[in-house]
Amino acid sequence: MTLSAAAPAADFWRAAERHLIRYGGPFTPAVIERAAGSYVYDSTGRAILDFTSGQMSGLLGHSHPAIVDTVQHMVSTLDHLFSWMLSRPVVDLATALAESLPDPLSKVLLLSTGGESNEAAVRLAKLYTGGYEVVALSQSYHGVTHASAAASYSVPRRGYGPVIPGNIVIPAPDAYRPTVMRDGRLDWRAQLDQAFAMVDAQSVGSLAACIVEPILSTGGIIELPPGYLAALKAKCHERGMLLILDEAQTGLCRTGDWYAFQRDGVTPDIITLSKTLGAGLPLSAVVTSPEIEERCHERGFYFATTHTSDPLPAAVGLAVLETLRREALDAAARRLGDRLRAGLLDLRGRHEAVGDVRGRGLLQGIELVTDRQTRAPANALGAAVTRACFDLGLHLNIVQLSAVSSVLRIAPPLTMSDDELDLGLSILDEALATTRAAG
Ligand code: PMP
Repeated sequence: MTLSAAAPAADFWRAAERHLIRYGGPFTPAVIERAAGSYVYDSTGRAILDFTSGQMSGLLGHSHPAIVDTVQHMVSTLDHLFSWMLSRPVVDLATALAESLPDPLSKVLLLSTGGESNEAAVRLAKLYTGGYEVVALSQSYHGVTHASAAASYSVPRRGYGPVIPGNIVIPAPDAYRPTVMRDGRLDWRAQLDQAFAMVDAQSVGSLAACIVEPILSTGGIIELPPGYLAALKAKCHERGMLLILDEAQTGLCRTGDWYAFQRDGVTPDIITLSKTLGAGLPLSAVVTSPEIEERCHERGFYFATTHTSDPLPAAVGLAVLETLRREALDAAARRLGDRLRAGLLDLRGRHEAVGDVRGRGLLQGIELVTDRQTRAPANALGAAVTRACFDLGLHLNIVQLSAVSSVLRIAPPLTMSDDELDLGLSILDEALATTRAAG
């Protein structure tokens, strides 16, 4: 736990230390009391610009009027129900999601978290194919529940006993740290061919699915290169496996398209949505085809949780989709994303430690290195820059869970103004300058 000597509300920290299980961290050294728009405010009244959109989920910033109105209305009229009791918001959100996605993605299951949605997607793939083996990318993150954690390789896997059998990892196509090269650049096709040769060697003949994020976010903002998804889908279908796309972070305009997979024109067999769908509230969805749904239903598919098909979060999801459309936030993400990219490239031009700039729309990252030639990760610097930004009034987070790289993830709300974005960039500039000066 981070306990700053100057921390306000000493008893708050004492109580936190006494009563909270430490689930990762460290905790940010501030007591957050309020959030609005693009800012969170601590107990001293200090405004902190939010370059993480909460936990990468608050597409509409904090306390967007559309969300406030929806929650207030629903909590006082129709809050939660038995899971097999249907209400309008659930069917309306399923319909709206189906309309926002290409055919044949039109059958929807509404849950609460990203981990759950991937758990359900893997179960569907297992029932549909009759197999159980799941392929995922190194540096992936899909959640902490059983199957989702088994397919996550960017976070520690040790200490919890055996993972479920049949999980196979293949290398992420990391263009900055390529493992297979041609003419000095990543040769992702050769890498993918080699990877699937290994999958075939390792498989016991029970392949069910491959699950991937279009941009590996927690794993360090690694974009699947153009053409990769199409090639991956072909590899999956040749083997009778389903392709599951996890768009927890990339879905719903974050990258400038409604869905990140649209850039590639490749429709997955199953898509999962979470973080951005609830704009900060717990809501997730699994969407698949009628054919897959039908076969799984015949085979007894079951996935009910306490909050499956709850009306309140469903109404929030509907409000999110409507607001994204009404405020044309896909265009905003493209425009702000271009502005962000220009600013980050400018930082790379002026700070030696910025080795790489990557990502799309409002999900971008900069990789910090100690040496541009060797690309050695600047882990200590990453922590120092994050802390310096926070002290200057900007919250962003470092993704270095894999210990392979030190990447600052930048995912502001789509509702952020140009001035706020520029302010964040200038704080980042100052933080990079002061931490370099500090050695
Ligand atoms: N998938 C991805 C791509 C994620 O980034 C996350 C959360 N970081 C999850 C799944 C898990 O979502 P949750 O924490 O809501 O279970």
